[in-house]
Amino acid sequence: MVTADEICAIEVFADLSPSTCERLSQVAADISLEPGEDAAPEGGERALFALLEGRIEAVKLVDGIERVVGERQPGDIFGEVPITLGTVFPVAFRAAEKSRVMRIEAHDYHGVVALEPDLAKAVGKLASFRIEGARGLQALAEPSPPRAFVLGHLRDPECTDLRHFLDRNQVTFAWVQPDAADAHEQWGEELPTEDGLVVRIVADEERGIEEVTALRPSLRQAAELLGLETTPNTVEYDTVIIGAGPAGLAAGVYGASEGLQTIVIERESPGGQAGSSSRIENYLGFPSGVSGEELASRALKQAQRLGAEILVTRTIERIDAVTREVHLDGGDVLQARTIILACGVSWRQLPVGGCDRLLGKGVFYGAARSEARNTHALDVHIVGAGNSAGQAAMHFSTHARSVTILCRGDGLEKSMSRYLIDQLATRPNISVRTRSEVAAVRGDNELEAIDIHDAASGKTTPVDSGGLFILIGADAETAWLPPEIALDSKGYVLTGPDVRAADRWELERDPYLLETSVPGIFACGDVRLGPVKRVAAAVGEGSMAIAFVHQYLREAGAS
Ligand SMILES: Cc1cc2nc3c(=O)[nH]c(=O)nc-3n(C[C@H](O)[C@H](O)[C@H](O)COP(=O)(O)OP(=O)(O)OC[C@H]3O[C@@H](n4cnc5c(N)ncnc54)[C@H](O)[C@@H]3O)c2cc1C
Repeated sequence: MVTADEICAIEVFADLSPSTCERLSQVAADISLEPGEDAAPEGGERALFALLEGRIEAVKLVDGIERVVGERQPGDIFGEVPITLGTVFPVAFRAAEKSRVMRIEAHDYHGVVALEPDLAKAVGKLASFRIEGARGLQALAEPSPPRAFVLGHLRDPECTDLRHFLDRNQVTFAWVQPDAADAHEQWGEELPTEDGLVVRIVADEERGIEEVTALRPSLRQAAELLGLETTPNTVEYDTVIIGAGPAGLAAGVYGASEGLQTIVIERESPGGQAGSSSRIENYLGFPSGVSGEELASRALKQAQRLGAEILVTRTIERIDAVTREVHLDGGDVLQARTIILACGVSWRQLPVGGCDRLLGKGVFYGAARSEARNTHALDVHIVGAGNSAGQAAMHFSTHARSVTILCRGDGLEKSMSRYLIDQLATRPNISVRTRSEVAAVRGDNELEAIDIHDAASGKTTPVDSGGLFILIGADAETAWLPPEIALDSKGYVLTGPDVRAADRWELERDPYLLETSVPGIFACGDVRLGPVKRVAAAVGEGSMAIAFVHQYLREAGAS
């Protein structure tokens, strides 16, 4: 329990009346911390703290590494910036040794300053110092130096893939286009003589990374050179989760936090389809929407903090339904007690001549957020009439000169949410061409034009195009799964009652809701046969899958 005397002994509270100190002592929480424990996590809700005993460090996650950026001694307060500006904590405050802190909630603090305005002034002055001081928040705002330099052309598909991969894995990098006038200065040294994609990894002692230059590295090589996790730490796991989209990451968070030896294996980068969404407007708790990249990056940090192992650039090529062996590309084999299929769906291909040849050279599936800046002042086209196409159009319209949505049907109403249709109407550089399809894609080395077929007039017209983004839905890619796992005619995985209905269940007990036709193998998110294909549903199912894993393991242990 914090006493009024302890509060009065803190410098910033020293001038408060004894009755105010008494009042504060009645609402202040008395918190004991072990070394390494957070008093306030980065991004935590605002509150005012004072350090009573011990030592607290301010810690900031910079480019994936935690750095100590400040310190508090007994008698100091922290949280003055969030409480004054009404923001979340920009850094974490963590006990460097056994410590004791008091915490005053925001509404209690505001109740007191209403009566003691001088306290608000004193706390505000400290906040101002923290923002502007030599070791203040301003210093934190300085951009972190790049971890890699990428030299490659705008329309080089390998360069495009690598840029997307680095973005999605939150690796800060500098991209140098060889034909830029100042390419030499940007690259920082003599330009390599090799033509094509070159990557220079910057030495980083903290991560144990050495400076190295690689010519056309595969994504896996790039991941290894950057120190991203690509190999499993052990061979036996309670649960192996296939795919790190929202469903797989949610399963990773719950599995690891509930004490299961958990590994999530992702063939590309964490985030799945959601990671390619420029703005998810309907995910609970984000009133102004959240970009898929941001959501994925938060989920990734959460899963890693809770102890899930997450491998990137590794594809699961085969699973054995009988032995529960999971075979990764490159030969690693894991032994899983349970398996969670969270492998989502893949973009449906546009069956139009030229698309494959110009893929990554102006033609793209999906609409990576980072691609928008490359459409500056161009006329771009989006194929599709669903919400993802609408979101992409909104995002690209802030960079491109014009965005044309090509829609096969009579209008967007049947397939796009009303709020998005209304938003599109407010952007003068977005137009919608109904009953229109892409008939051909043209260009020698990069996309130059597309042919648009207008079903109403029956005419096909060529138009210049600076980018074609195809968002025409997705299909389950499950042909690699063993035949014991029952699928529907379109390749979606059957679970729970659908397995029984298909007569593919052999045990006496019913299959759990997310259990496939193989007991102990579960499916969640978009890959599962189900009517809802949404981030919230994927997250919910990923978390639920872990509850069924526990049930299954209990049952297996009992038998
Ligand atoms: C552009 C776009 C915008 C969207 N906007 C919204 C929105 O605003 N609101 C909303 O609710 N939903 C939205 N969605 C839908 C939402 O993103 C999906 O429903 C959700 O991502 C499904 O999550 P998932 O984890 O099941 O699958 P996915 O997100 O598809 O993730 C599956 C992951 O598994 C990996 N994988 C596949 N096979 C293997 C393998 N063999 N080995 C290893 N890894 C593998 C993939 O690489 C992928 O990363 C949008 C989708 C797109 C494409």
